[in-house]
Amino acid sequence: MVVVMRPGTEQREIDKLVAQFQLQGLQVGITNGVDCTILGLVGDTTAVDMDKISINEHIERVMRVSEPYKRANRKFHPEDTVVTAGSALVGGGNFAVIAGPCSVESQEQIIAVARDVQTSGASLLRGGAFKPRTSPYSFQGMGAPGLDLLLEAKAATGMPIVTELMSPKYCQLFEDKVDVIQIGARNMQNFDLLKEVGKLSKPVLLKRGLSNSYEEWIMSAEYIMSEGNENVILCERGIRTFETYTRNTLDVSAIPAVKRMSHLPVVVDPSHSAGMYWMVEPLALAAVAAGADGLLIEVHNDPAHALCDGQQSLTPEHFARLMGKVSALVDLVGKRMVK
Ligand code: PEP
Ligand code: MN
Repeated sequence: MVVVMRPGTEQREIDKLVAQFQLQGLQVGITNGVDCTILGLVGDTTAVDMDKISINEHIERVMRVSEPYKRANRKFHPEDTVVTAGSALVGGGNFAVIAGPCSVESQEQIIAVARDVQTSGASLLRGGAFKPRTSPYSFQGMGAPGLDLLLEAKAATGMPIVTELMSPKYCQLFEDKVDVIQIGARNMQNFDLLKEVGKLSKPVLLKRGLSNSYEEWIMSAEYIMSEGNENVILCERGIRTFETYTRNTLDVSAIPAVKRMSHLPVVVDPSHSAGMYWMVEPLALAAVAAGADGLLIEVHNDPAHALCDGQQSLTPEHFARLMGKVSALVDLVGKRMVK
């Protein structure tokens, strides 16, 4: 961190500030220029509050030269993190496909879709039991009984299950029943929820918020990691832009950028990005080509009658065709398809 003092600041003010930084455990390098003095702070500056420092009337500017995140930072952990999600590995060359319906609707539906996506090569089953819907009048998900149906599908196929947690009050239930806890886009900055899942032992799939920067997204992962849970998978799911044709805009740049910033695996959800079933395939292939560590795809056995997101759901047949192409491309980029 670099602190630029205002021209003409008295030496005793500079000394006071230097002592203050040293008390915080930082080393301070002092450069005296013609007009002003520059302080270079070395050490763990993640907990230093820039806004608080800039209140000082003798300070002209404060700049960070290192990132405010540490545990998620590739600088301190150069090798890729491999997250163990139930029986599947994600990251470090392991390419995992998570597939299933937007919502769990019935025993017949979730078991049938689980069998279909597994046959086509998906390694994890998704399905929402608690749904974050824009309207309170829309289907809100089956709730806790939906988790039991996911467990039945897991028993029938052996696939680990991924499902969304919306409230800290269900943390223990998810810890007991779920293999991967999804934090949805709308809760990416629900810091109390992030801190609670940080205390659990299950891996977390952290979706990018609708309007959040890469750094904000990684800082949310940092919240989870700082509580002890280092098993975080990041999921790009499209962001809000001025374009209204698509539901969201898939930010393909997020894949190489975030993988450079962080060692955590990055998976891509082309279903919520596009919001249209016919766009899922090209976006999924683009994500693989851009370096994603996995995909999250909505699949429904009767999209026209789905209780949620039918318009963007692939049929099992379409998913099977897509998986043929995904697996050829995964091979081409030198990764392994996770079984
Ligand atoms: C979902 O995965 O069903 C979902 C609601 O996703 P998002 O939080 O990305 O909108
Ligand atoms: Mn959905």
